[in-house]
Amino acid sequence: MNDLRGLYQEIILDHYKRPRHHGVATGANREAEGFNPLCGDKVKVTLAMKDGTIEDVAFEGEGCAISTASASLMTEALHGKTEAEARELFQRFRQLLTGGEVVDEEELGKLAALSGVRDYPMRVKCATLAWHTLQAALDKADDAVSTE
Ligand code: ZN
Repeated sequence: MNDLRGLYQEIILDHYKRPRHHGVATGANREAEGFNPLCGDKVKVTLAMKDGTIEDVAFEGEGCAISTASASLMTEALHGKTEAEARELFQRFRQLLTGGEVVDEEELGKLAALSGVRDYPMRVKCATLAWHTLQAALDKADDAVSTE
């Protein structure tokens, strides 16, 4: 278990120091901004959606190691996912962090690196900020296609 923790810490540090998909998504057609006042983390997520699939996703912002690493890991995990898969992944990720249900960590891949955050409730918002922002961007898309 200690080896796993060490590996997880390495993944988090790596993504904090060298964030993946940092910037604006190519062909972005959705965006949202998020702020976590508890820690001061800010993030902007841009998405390029085509036929219900995330073709590209990127993030910008400033925040702590956890929020930055989480945003970076999120963008990596979301490429090529459908909107439904992205929302499902957020649910599972949130379950992992809040410990409400047993989650198959292997299924979450590298996202499981953030599982240690569940021992620090104050940091859960850091880890979920990018995901909440993603959800806001996806929800805006729903508004756009509303027939009301
Ligand atoms: Zn933070």
